[in-house]
Amino acid sequence: MSHVFHRSLQQTYPVAVSGEGVYVIDNQGKRYIDACGGAAVSCLGYDYAPLKTAINAQIDKLPFVHSSFFTTDILEQAAEALVNDTNGVMSHVYFVSGGSEAIEAAIKMARQYFVDTGKPSKRYFIARKQSYHGNTLGALSLGGNEARKAPYKDILIGANHISACYEYREKQPDESAEAYGLRAANELEAEILRLGAENVAAFVAETVVGATAGCLPPAPTYFKRIREICDQYDVLLILDEVMCGMGRTGTLHAYTQDGITPDIQAVAKGIAAGYQPLGAVFMKAFIVDAIRQGAGFFQHGHTYICHATAVAAGLATQRIIKSENLLDNVVKQGDYLSQRLHEQLADKPYVGEIRGRGLFKGIELVADKASKTPHDASLPIASRIRAVAMDNGLMCYPIAGTIDGVNGNHVLLAPAYIIQAHEIDEIVDKLEKTITTVMDGIATK
Ligand code: PMP
Repeated sequence: MSHVFHRSLQQTYPVAVSGEGVYVIDNQGKRYIDACGGAAVSCLGYDYAPLKTAINAQIDKLPFVHSSFFTTDILEQAAEALVNDTNGVMSHVYFVSGGSEAIEAAIKMARQYFVDTGKPSKRYFIARKQSYHGNTLGALSLGGNEARKAPYKDILIGANHISACYEYREKQPDESAEAYGLRAANELEAEILRLGAENVAAFVAETVVGATAGCLPPAPTYFKRIREICDQYDVLLILDEVMCGMGRTGTLHAYTQDGITPDIQAVAKGIAAGYQPLGAVFMKAFIVDAIRQGAGFFQHGHTYICHATAVAAGLATQRIIKSENLLDNVVKQGDYLSQRLHEQLADKPYVGEIRGRGLFKGIELVADKASKTPHDASLPIASRIRAVAMDNGLMCYPIAGTIDGVNGNHVLLAPAYIIQAHEIDEIVDKLEKTITTVMDGIATK
């Protein structure tokens, strides 16, 4: 009997023993091709030698030193490199251990900014229904995934939710994508006015939605209008790029494709390729200046912030992505993945939409293509896809999310930035086989 408190206590897991490129190998010698980076984490695969060398070098030098006592060279170098890569947008970066921690810090940073600038009534947060921001109580409160929140509803903090920008489901047939983007963004203005601008601290959104809607890029006008509204009402814009950031969509930061910049940005996952647990919060100079001149101290901090070995993994990952021009591969293979998914899956009666940016793709599954009717929430589609995919030697990320009472099934794909065309062929073949098996099983029930 396992004494590990696993994610699911009803399931047994294969035992992973090694990795080779984009494959994970279990103790029976079975190989699994990783089509989702675990959860958009493993962007350099599982045995990238120069990354391991950089991590080992830091462990040999100084594995960890508590941030209350020292800074380190690796920390200063990593912050400089990351901030430089924002081309003057951000001035500082705060290193944490993962995505939820980054969001939690971003929430508290926004709040402290308003306390320190003499506007303590600004305390409300607005987020979106189709969103996931993490599992700590603050981050969970902002998220819109009802199933994840259900057992904890009574102990969450208050948060206000508007719709996400979801063209496939919300755009009217006679409406342009541009007009829809503006309409969706204007929900934010209405919500700020409802709450009173003097009470609203920040709007929090994933630039490209990940784990609740199987990858949902915004309409072209959406974030430009969001930015205008935030500026007009003195509301901070916090972008959650924990999943979609650090190169996943083909640019280092996803927001650059939307022509805007956030005030605070959370990243994690791909920042250190999963070789170490790392997250980070970027912030603009005006936020840092306000906190410096206010309390002078961020009233927040965990033991492992600024962890030398984790930060070394992050810096090495970023250097590898640059020196190997991996973002070019993200764009090239992202296009190829789209093409192959469309060729092999678009005509299936249960595939509603295939969408995404770069190596971040979503497939929305529906019970009826014409009406876009989702499957009955009681059907175990996501769990079946996960299990059948694993039988077929494929790691993919199926999602069952209930948003406003509407069930949606999606499959998220986020392969490593080093993926090659023949591996994409293998992924799409295995995915087609998996989804067909599951859907045929459901149809015959
Ligand atoms: N935000 C987003 C957009 C995420 O996808 C996730 C993780 N799936 C998180 C935050 C939380 O990150 P973590 O699991 O590292 O705490």
